[in-house]
Amino acid sequence: MFMNPVDYDVVIIGCGPAGTTTARVAAQKGLKVLLVDKRQELGAPIQCSGALSASALEDADIDPNAEFVQDEIFGFRVYNEVGDQSNIDYRILKPEKYGIGVDKKPLGYVVDRRRFDRYLMTLAERAGAEVWLKTEGVSYKPLDDYTCEVYLRKFNKEIIVRTKVLVGADGLQSQVGKWAGLDTHIKMTELASCLQFVVDGVETNGMLEIITGHEWAPGGYAWLFPKGHGYAEVGLGVIRTMTKQNAQWHLDHFINNSFLKERLKHARILPVQGGGVPLAAPLRTQYAANLILVGDAARHVNPITGGGLHTALIGGMIAGGFLAELIQSGSNTSAENLKGYQNHWEEGLGNKMWQLYHVKKSIFKMEDIDQRNLKLYETMSDYFNPHSVYKKV
Ligand SMILES: Cc1cc2nc3c(=O)[nH]c(=O)nc-3n(C[C@H](O)[C@H](O)[C@H](O)COP(=O)(O)OP(=O)(O)OC[C@H]3O[C@@H](n4cnc5c(N)ncnc54)[C@H](O)[C@@H]3O)c2cc1C
Repeated sequence: MFMNPVDYDVVIIGCGPAGTTTARVAAQKGLKVLLVDKRQELGAPIQCSGALSASALEDADIDPNAEFVQDEIFGFRVYNEVGDQSNIDYRILKPEKYGIGVDKKPLGYVVDRRRFDRYLMTLAERAGAEVWLKTEGVSYKPLDDYTCEVYLRKFNKEIIVRTKVLVGADGLQSQVGKWAGLDTHIKMTELASCLQFVVDGVETNGMLEIITGHEWAPGGYAWLFPKGHGYAEVGLGVIRTMTKQNAQWHLDHFINNSFLKERLKHARILPVQGGGVPLAAPLRTQYAANLILVGDAARHVNPITGGGLHTALIGGMIAGGFLAELIQSGSNTSAENLKGYQNHWEEGLGNKMWQLYHVKKSIFKMEDIDQRNLKLYETMSDYFNPHSVYKKV
């Protein structure tokens, strides 16, 4: 049968941190890459607090840049339900390394997701990837020569491209995995419903504040993060099956009644942002013939913290590197060969995530709320500690 030549080695759907990183690495290593996103303005509307560690950027070979950094982070303050706190300030715990000044650095950053995603897209473009915005992935069809057709809608025009691999980096509500028949179902008991207000007039002193306790955030936690220029983010995530109220009710309740109410009393509310976060296990199968998933689409999200930026970046590094090696070796992109991607990912990241998932599960299956509160507070305090028993992801 006559076939047109393939258009691309890799087509990636989704220009978030996972997709742009996969694209950058694959293009850097010499693959012909197309990256598409249905949005015109990347990262908007913002559905993320933007907190990530300095090591996340290091792991992804990205220098912190004023273009996207909104604030610097130096530690954590973890509270239990009544306001007792673990103060994990790396400026005090490791003063030789963390702080402001020569030879010192921040522990992490809060980034502006619109600017960050655009910055990552530019890096991918500069590495040689072609980028089409306002282009929606609609479906795909595997062909019998280990390539596939991807159906796209660019502005209002239908376009078909042929590629060796399709990467689904299309976020929490991934359709790409469904097209391939992968089990992407997420239980309501593992989906956090998140809401945050950007507020003015709340001092944060470079600390990520995490408030545990069923009273404030059933199934999740509340947070108060710096946002730069004197702004802060106050938000929370709740598991809807654990409460009769929605996230908005809980956030109002937290702001008006918690032990932080005095600090939050003069907060002027600016934008309201929200979205879902999977506090779930990684997908058991993240590949099919001609197809892999990365980032939120594969549930590469830390099930304890709900953070998905670091894992999206590392997942993208692993995916881009693996695909380059596979395709350049002349091997085909059968499901069997693409299983190697998941194996690499399990070794690099997945095993740690599975460990965290089991910890999270053991906490939330406790029937006794006081015991559960205590265990969550202890686990969160331990997780952010420099001497933590948990491996950070
Ligand atoms: C309220 C909230 C706060 C959060 N705070 C933090 C935090 O502080 N730190 C942290 O680490 N994580 C945080 N997260 C999680 C983090 O935002 C995600 O884990 C991260 O964005 C995942 O990146 P991704 O690239 O996998 O997917 P996304 O960033 O979701 O990107 C997916 C992209 O795919 C595009 N897309 C989807 N479908 C299609 C299609 N059919 N065709 C074309 N394009 C498509 C979308 O437009 C989008 O640009 C937060 C999440 C929420 C909801």
